[in-house]
Amino acid sequence: MHGANLIPVTTVILGAGLTGCTLARLLAEAGEEVTVLEAEARPGGLCRSVTADGFTFDLGGSHIVFSRDLEVLAWMQEQLDANREERHRETKCWYRGAYVHYPFENGLFDLPPEDRFRCLDGFVRAVLASNLAAAEGDVTPPHDFLDWIRQTFGDGIADCYLVPYNEKIWKYPLDRMSAHWVDGRVPRPPLEDVLSAACGLQTEGYAHQAVFSYPALGGIEALVQAIAAPVRDRIRCGFRVASVRREGNGFLVSDGETTVAADRCISTIPVQALLGALVAVPVGVLDAGERLVHNSVACVFIGLRGPVPPYSWVYLAAPELGFANRISFPSNYSTGTAPPGCGSVLAECTYRPGDPPATMDDQALIDHVVDHLEEMGILRREDVIYTGCARQPYAYVVYDLDYLESIRSVRDHVEGRGIELVGRFAEFEYLNMDGCIRHALDHVRGREPCT
Ligand SMILES: Cc1cc2nc3c(=O)[nH]c(=O)nc-3n(C[C@H](O)[C@H](O)[C@H](O)COP(=O)(O)OP(=O)(O)OC[C@H]3O[C@@H](n4cnc5c(N)ncnc54)[C@H](O)[C@@H]3O)c2cc1C
Repeated sequence: MHGANLIPVTTVILGAGLTGCTLARLLAEAGEEVTVLEAEARPGGLCRSVTADGFTFDLGGSHIVFSRDLEVLAWMQEQLDANREERHRETKCWYRGAYVHYPFENGLFDLPPEDRFRCLDGFVRAVLASNLAAAEGDVTPPHDFLDWIRQTFGDGIADCYLVPYNEKIWKYPLDRMSAHWVDGRVPRPPLEDVLSAACGLQTEGYAHQAVFSYPALGGIEALVQAIAAPVRDRIRCGFRVASVRREGNGFLVSDGETTVAADRCISTIPVQALLGALVAVPVGVLDAGERLVHNSVACVFIGLRGPVPPYSWVYLAAPELGFANRISFPSNYSTGTAPPGCGSVLAECTYRPGDPPATMDDQALIDHVVDHLEEMGILRREDVIYTGCARQPYAYVVYDLDYLESIRSVRDHVEGRGIELVGRFAEFEYLNMDGCIRHALDHVRGREPCT
């Protein structure tokens, strides 16, 4: 294992997704000698993109650049420099054959009157119940995510939209998901906003996403490429980390052929993959790692002759709309994403083992999506001039009821071995790109992340 194939460096970073590339860049700027080890043929992870027949699609689902974190937002925009276009977010929910304003609770005016009444009635009752509980000092925190949805939005909005949508994206029973992660991420709507929107007065909702950026050329991968450019020669692709061992004060990381020796090891790969690369992990920790839940995503890419609806993306909650939980229109993100006169659709279908998209072949899934979009009147099959499909085994962290206990056990063990964890599936947290960059910045600056 040692000998000719031993490469000594100061810091080894496992995984060259957005987090690994950002860490490498920041550490190199701070004067550290880094090497990044990436299993795939090129860096980017979930933020890779593909361009074919003039259409550009993001392989890990449709990505936009946005953030409430102004330092991180400015940093991302600076990386893209001139390769950046800005768009107003135009997002919809598809409900009973019509487009409804997003977020759904701000779009009740667009519903048929009986559903509008049902949603409004449920929402007002939920607000009254929570005000009464607060006045009586009898607030019971929601037991689970389903409880949280019903307590916060009421039964009408829950049954019409939020329950079917969340069942579709998470692929996990909502009453077995924790509610700890939703506060802040899913804002509680003020009563006056919901009422005024139901009367037809426009309210924005999710203002931090109202304007977003997207690379003019190259899809979201252009962002990772720009971040990684100064350290590109430090990224070694085709290196699937198979073992990580402590030796003296340092680490030996190997893919079975080549070994990298480093003083410091930062892992951004899924924590389950890291556990599999360690020896002598206690059974309790391995069990906790196995209990951590995630889902996968299959992305269907469709290039069309002619335009697409004038929206950024549309949420598809109802099961009868097929497996896709969201369709986006990348050709509306920037001018370089489709040939002139053409439009594009990216459909995201999440799945867990045993769900139909897990076993369908790519062509069957493409046909399934095209058929449903044709039925909805979003495209015509004869206009389809390009199709493709890409799958990502790790898409979303699913916060089940055991999550906090499981992740604590895993993190304590791994960090106890001196391995640092940063990134979406290394920390096993629902981090968007801005969260990954924030955690990387704070990690390099030696601060606890505050997201
Ligand atoms: C459908 C979808 C839509 C999204 N949309 C947005 C959006 O609009 N805006 C936004 O800000 N964020 C969005 N995100 C989130 C964003 O994709 C992530 O926050 C970010 O890409 C995570 O980067 P990462 O480097 O932590 O993880 P990853 O991208 O998963 O990178 C991990 C890397 O480790 C590598 N690896 C794995 N195992 C090994 C091994 N054994 N050895 C070596 N390498 C290994 C992988 O190949 C990969 O390159 C979206 C995510 C999804 C799933």
